[in-house]
Amino acid sequence: MQQYEIRQCEAVECQFRFPVAVGDPAGLHCPHCGEPTALAATPPITDTPFPQFAPHFTHLELLLDNIRSLYNVGAIMRTADGAGVKHLHLGGITAPPTHPKLTKTALGAESALPWTQYRNSVYAARQLKAEGHEIWVLEEGETAVNLFTTTLPSTAKQPILLVIGNEKVGVDPDIRRLANRTFALPMSGVKNSLNVAVAFGIAIYQIQFG
Ligand SMILES: [Zn+2]
Repeated sequence: MQQYEIRQCEAVECQFRFPVAVGDPAGLHCPHCGEPTALAATPPITDTPFPQFAPHFTHLELLLDNIRSLYNVGAIMRTADGAGVKHLHLGGITAPPTHPKLTKTALGAESALPWTQYRNSVYAARQLKAEGHEIWVLEEGETAVNLFTTTLPSTAKQPILLVIGNEKVGVDPDIRRLANRTFALPMSGVKNSLNVAVAFGIAIYQIQFG
């Protein structure tokens, strides 16, 4: 496992401080002013496992309906793995985990979750609902309830399919009609929208560990 150290510029008027891999020659000189640096701190080694918590829903799957940004797909995949999501359903233009530009963002999570790709997200949602999934949609809108104040069942007999929608148009209207539950996140401030990967992260942790 690659070890890191924190170095600090020795020029008193600079003192730029930054992490670098141990032994990397880039750490010897200040990236800001070019003066020599000194070892300032050694971060703790974090190969000890994170504390494990059981998610509320042990059979929760995710449908990504036309997520345009590779960065968002990668971030969502990594978060999904940490939150106990069991399967990824990828609809329309959503890039598959095998996309060469995704492997870096997801940092290995791309291989952890089984996934299925669909040309049509609506057909995928219909099929999964017919097979017994409950459809939960994360979306703003009149029928949406605040995820933080609503009471979720403590467990579910049916598998759950959480649907996350496109950055511009949200979840496809024909999928919204299939929803058993529609959630929105509480919002404050002027710009009333969150990045889709951030919104997913907040929602899935509330659903699984809240
Ligand atoms: Zn410096």
